[in-house]
Amino acid sequence: MTQDALPWLSTPALPRFLADRMVGRLATWLRILGYDTAYLPHLSPQGLLREGRRQGRILLTRDSRLLRQKDVPSLIFIRDDHFRGQLKQVIVECRLTPMASLFARCSECNQVLEAVAKETIQDQVPEYVWQTQGTFHRCPECHRIYWSATHKVHALAELRRLGIEV
Ligand SMILES: [Zn+2]
Repeated sequence: MTQDALPWLSTPALPRFLADRMVGRLATWLRILGYDTAYLPHLSPQGLLREGRRQGRILLTRDSRLLRQKDVPSLIFIRDDHFRGQLKQVIVECRLTPMASLFARCSECNQVLEAVAKETIQDQVPEYVWQTQGTFHRCPECHRIYWSATHKVHALAELRRLGIEV
């Protein structure tokens, strides 16, 4: 685990999450909003509780049995079937600020993205993108390149659908 390697997004003020296997899309979206969100779909319910406690993360689960366990870490029982309702629930209950760190993390591996010089990645993005975009970021783990235009338009539209002012 190298998720805490870059501390500037791991300040105590920002909640960190651990998503169970039922809410993978929610986990992706929390990462898009810049929140440190571990997704460990292979863990058993007991394993989730243990990791939530050990890592000091808020457990996001749809498993109502976990509510009855003793010594439960911080936990949010996700009510909605659909990720939009789920995301809205977490934003409201945790008082998240969705725009504060938008696109700071890789949506695949939860790593904080690093700025990358445009000249160094010409052969790694489509020519049109390279010609028209000025700013690029890269995930230090999967090396996926991010640029603002399409991701941002899509995400902002999604947040507006949730009724979140952007
Ligand atoms: Zn990545």
